Amino acid sequence: APKTVLVTGCSSGIGLALAVRLAQDKQRRFRVIATMRNLAKKEALEAAAGPALHRTLEIKQLDVCDEKSIRACVNSLPNRHIDILINNAGVGLIGPIECQSIEEMKAVMETNFFGVVRMIKEVLPDMKRRRSGHIVVISSVMGLQGIVFNDIYTASKFAVEGFCESLIIQTLKFNVFVIMIEPGPVVTEFEMKAYEDAEKADYSQTDPETADIFTNLYLKNSKAIFSSLGQTPEDIAEVNSIPQPAFRHQTNAVYTPMMALKHADPTGALMTDTFYKMVFKYETLLHVSLKPIAAHAWHAVSPVRTHYQ
Ligand code: NAD
Repeated sequence: APKTVLVTGCSSGIGLALAVRLAQDKQRRFRVIATMRNLAKKEALEAAAGPALHRTLEIKQLDVCDEKSIRACVNSLPNRHIDILINNAGVGLIGPIECQSIEEMKAVMETNFFGVVRMIKEVLPDMKRRRSGHIVVISSVMGLQGIVFNDIYTASKFAVEGFCESLIIQTLKFNVFVIMIEPGPVVTEFEMKAYEDAEKADYSQTDPETADIFTNLYLKNSKAIFSSLGQTPEDIAEVNSIPQPAFRHQTNAVYTPMMALKHADPTGALMTDTFYKMVFKYETLLHVSLKPIAAHAWHAVSPVRTHYQ
């Protein structure tokens, strides 16, 4: 029998690509419950799903911030049976923290962290009882490493990583697998929404130097990174369809050395020094050339290695 997969946040981006990829599986291994907060936004998914719609793909309403809507959606499934839960819904937030209200910050945590917690709380008891299930979480490289001006978003993804890292030990006892997908930049509406919000922001809340670093250095570089290194939602969907991947799965090899910095030097000096130089010396948040960064990281690692020997 096909596996029932429930995906959150399917009106656009990675969620949409994933739902379609799974529903169009040539071996018909999946029955996809593609959920979204607002059903008025279902046209793009319907168009992309093509003949899979109403066959292997069904669209349902689900808001990860609303326990009632989660319960109603899960209850509407035969025996509440979900084999694979894919937590994809998420929102971004960029900019200096002085320019962000606590309410905006809480909204990010509500979706990115508590959204995942609400979903898992709802499906885990059934999976444990059946002693089978997969829980996939679309985290981010920013769940592993902080990136300048992404303070709150990074915190929300770190929260998810810590939650899942703790949870998996227990769930494995019940044959339930937790899988983190950690993409680097992916070209979706996500990026655009963040830029739109950043353009509307009131930078009088911060000092002119910080505002300048954010608007001139960060935003410009970030756009360049997305256009040069950005993956497509389909790339991420492909990673998700690998059977039984490891607990952590980074999709963009370019980021692996960056993610290793803090493990190479537990004092954190290597990591802060590299990122500081990247932003303020090379003024690149990565894209211009990876060579100086790699060289810098290498030189920085060498003495650290000696130190530990
Ligand atoms: P996106 O904006 O296209 O998709 C996010 C989806 O989540 C949207 O369809 C949105 O409507 C939905 N959503 C937001 N709040 C919701 C809620 N309360 N309930 C249900 N759905 C809700 O962006 P995307 O890039 O496809 O993002 C998908 C996931 O990938 C997010 O978790 C994001 O953090 C993660 N991610 C994105 C990137 C990137 O560069 N785009 C990189 C790493 C990780």
